This record gives sequence, C-alpha cells and structure tokens, in this order.
Amino acid sequence: MGKRIYPLNKIKYWYCYDINDICDLYQEFDLSDRTIFSWIRKGLSKIDDKRPFLIRGYDLKNFLGNMNKSNKCQTKFDQMFCMSCKDARNFYQNQIAIEMKNNFLSVKAICRTCKGVMNKSYKLDDFGDLKRKFNMVEKLQLSDCKTLLLKTDLQIQEKINLKQLNLIDLIDEKEK
Ligand SMILES: [Zn+2]
Repeated sequence: MGKRIYPLNKIKYWYCYDINDICDLYQEFDLSDRTIFSWIRKGLSKIDDKRPFLIRGYDLKNFLGNMNKSNKCQTKFDQMFCMSCKDARNFYQNQIAIEMKNNFLSVKAICRTCKGVMNKSYKLDDFGDLKRKFNMVEKLQLSDCKTLLLKTDLQIQEKINLKQLNLIDLIDEKEK
C-alpha cells in the first residue's frame, strides 16, 4: 500500500468511465479491476447498478481527490483519515477490527465524529501495539456498532463477549 497520489487532471469532468477506462487512465499504477471495485465499496459512486458499471468523471475526481488527501495526511498511530470528515479522526469506543493480509494489516475503525467506517493499513509489526492500545473486535460488530448499542438482548451481548475471547468456534459447534 504505497502512498499514491493520483493526478486528477487526467479525469474529464463530464466523461463517463467504465472500470477498464479507469485502469487505462492510471496505467502507471497498474490498477486491477479489484482495486476499482474496492473504491466502489469505499464510496466511489457509480451511475447505477447496471453492468458494465459506469462512473462519472466528476465522482471519480472527487473520490480520488479525497484519496490523495488521505494519502498525504500523516495520521498518528491512534488515528485514521476519515473520508467523510476529510480529516484525521480518533476511533469510536477505541475499537478496531484487524484483518490479516499478506504483508500488512488492514484495520477498520469507526470515526468518533461522524460514526462512519475508516480504513488504514498498518505494518505486521504493529500488531502488538494495536492489541495493547485498542479493543479488538470482529469486523461485523464494528460496522454494527450503532445498532448494537440499542440492542438489549442479553444473549447477543453474551455471544459478542465470547466472540472477543475467540470462543465463537465453540459456540458454533454447539449450535450445529
Ligand atoms: Zn468522520
């Protein structure tokens, strides 16, 4: 995950781009379809759900502008760049969800200000520090945190607590 800066002047405001067009636009970065799909998941708007997906130059410019800002923004260890707030933010309830990738950690947290989901890559070596500083939770629990607070169902709560202790496998066994 390099700190890429996407030149925005390549994007024509009123053009519509499909996935391949975008890959061609930034040949120097050797983008794959998967990268573009991950942008869509992160909030890049497409015109509609019809395939092939089309993206307005305007939206692409906006999205990559934010991405550039995020890549330029030096966030502290305990902060991430929030795409909605367009600034570095602390983590809601000090919670993070870690996903182990090949050579880095993909970490998600909820923005304390707008409660939106934030992403950041950490080095594998950071795992110990992350574990010490934050509450590690399941990804599902993290994205669900707004509704979770409203749930009073003790069983759900109990299950989540057990999940945190990595005992979920045992429960799943019992439930089968
Ligand atoms: Zn935010």
